[in-house]
Amino acid sequence: MIIEVPQGYVFSKEGNIIAFEENGTLKLRSRLGGFEEIVYDLTYKLKGNTRCYYCGRSVEKDKIKLTLDHIYPRALGGPTIPQNLVPACRSCNGRKENMTPDQFKAYMSLGDVKRKKEFQREFFRIKYFQEKWVHVLPDEWTNKTKISELIVLINLQDTSTSKYRKTREYYLRCGQFHKPIVIDCHNFVLDGFTEVLYAKNNKIQEIPTIILENVEVIF
Ligand SMILES: [Zn+2]
Repeated sequence: MIIEVPQGYVFSKEGNIIAFEENGTLKLRSRLGGFEEIVYDLTYKLKGNTRCYYCGRSVEKDKIKLTLDHIYPRALGGPTIPQNLVPACRSCNGRKENMTPDQFKAYMSLGDVKRKKEFQREFFRIKYFQEKWVHVLPDEWTNKTKISELIVLINLQDTSTSKYRKTREYYLRCGQFHKPIVIDCHNFVLDGFTEVLYAKNNKIQEIPTIILENVEVIF
């Protein structure tokens, strides 16, 4: 997957440049975390920070506060990459909840409040099932990469976290990972360390990955 990176893009933190654009590639100096923060910043640069993507209300005129909404919700395995994020006001983000993009589109197209309420009731009825079982990401986003080919520079050990427990539960129930991990063009892991740890501990050979082909961790 190629992500859009504005020409001349720079992200600094505490006076240090930790990400920048070079020939269309996003170079990351920060290899240990901080990736999510860079993605949020990049998304606002690409998609604007003045209007809600869903209702169109404006930060300045309507005094709304913007958040970033995961189009495919995190609870359904939606990754934190610019393709999956849009600026949204708190109200739209809240109403969208963990609906898929199709569900939310159907919801928004309903005219009156009564039908919207009915839709929400129906959604909450199936929500639990959906979050536990449904895989909704577009196929073309995801690859499979051998665990042995991944590069992980942090010390993976802690299996006592609730993240690890959830990963295990999901894997045992569904026979697959809840979300693809995110890696750079050299297989550096940018997001999904818990999944990698679980795979290593359980001798799982392959893991679903989103490969950001024009993102490169540099030293
Ligand atoms: Zn809105």
